[in-house]
Amino acid sequence: MLALVKTKAGPGLELREMPEPPMGIDDVRIRVRKTGICGTDLHIESWDPWAARTIKPPLIVGHEFVGEVIEIGSNVHDLHVGDVVSGEGHVVCGRCRHCRAGRWHLCANSIGLGVGRDGAFAEQVVLPVANVWHHWPRIEEDVAAIFDPFGNAVHTALAFPVLGEDVLVVGAGPIGLMATAVARHAGARYVVVSEPNAFRRDLATRMGATTVVDPAARTLADVQAELGMVEGFDVVLEMSGNPSAMKDALANMAHGGGMAILGIPPGEVAIDMSQVIFKQLTLQGIYGREMFETWYKMSVMLQSGLDIGPAITHRFSFRDHEAAFAAARSGESGKVLMNWTESSD
Ligand code: NAD
Ligand code: ZN
Repeated sequence: MLALVKTKAGPGLELREMPEPPMGIDDVRIRVRKTGICGTDLHIESWDPWAARTIKPPLIVGHEFVGEVIEIGSNVHDLHVGDVVSGEGHVVCGRCRHCRAGRWHLCANSIGLGVGRDGAFAEQVVLPVANVWHHWPRIEEDVAAIFDPFGNAVHTALAFPVLGEDVLVVGAGPIGLMATAVARHAGARYVVVSEPNAFRRDLATRMGATTVVDPAARTLADVQAELGMVEGFDVVLEMSGNPSAMKDALANMAHGGGMAILGIPPGEVAIDMSQVIFKQLTLQGIYGREMFETWYKMSVMLQSGLDIGPAITHRFSFRDHEAAFAAARSGESGKVLMNWTESSD
């Protein structure tokens, strides 16, 4: 099969023939149809210090996908050939304290698809059945391809109750864009999006932001005054990984507020703890998605009218992977998809 592979330590990815992945009795073989490019894939492609520390080539990259079941292991009883599925990208150990309590998202030993095991930028991917999500009817294929990052957005946006609350989204990358629409769908009053990139601010408006802010041009206090807010943001969704943006958000939160932190900062971040203490804030780290409550909520919200389609801005054939990666890296993009269906079948 064809796959996009990190063949050796160093920058770049190679489209090449690879053996079909082996199957176990609890596994599902999936014919990949469409994939989404994540920041993680860009890190691996460019071979940054994180990738050099983490990735052991050769590795098939990618973890955001939708595809069709083509083979099931002998121990798999509730999926069938032809089912349209995506995969939860965190493969958990099943043996640690949290796994055994059913809190899989807290697994201490999870392995990332396309990071610690061969991934989905390929004609086929094999996953344990426990990681496979069978899509509900009427879920668009392009949206199904990005259930993994959509799940990051939903997990973060629903970490604190947003009904009737004023929400600040920091960073309008693909995940911040989707979280903006989710916060609106879930009943927030104001959803303010802070983002330095003008292309992405426009997308945030299309996703339902009340107000978009260029943090270099305008303060959050000024935006609050314009909206008639008096006490600060009740909920912050940190989706930039930018330390100064995080500090700025902290300083603009209401007493008793909650900050859900998804963005991964480049290193340590110093914050003013007295803000946290005297405002009695809750800071909640978010990693991945809840298995599978987040997946359930994603499906319910799509069926009840949530539209994340505008967050997808580019579509390429897998053969044009270099152009696809360049688009994802450019910043003049939301989510970038690659189509794998026009290869051998
Ligand atoms: P992205 O890098 O495309 O988006 C980040 C956005 O933040 C960019 O649009 C950037 O312009 C913006 N930004 C930069 N400085 C800012 C500032 N000062 N104020 C406001 N915005 C600023 O990433 P993404 O794919 O949307 O992911 C969002 C973040 O979540 C990234 O940090 C990513 O590494 C992280 N992530 C975490 C998990 C997890 O499980 N915790 C999973 C996926 C991604
Ligand atoms: Zn575990």
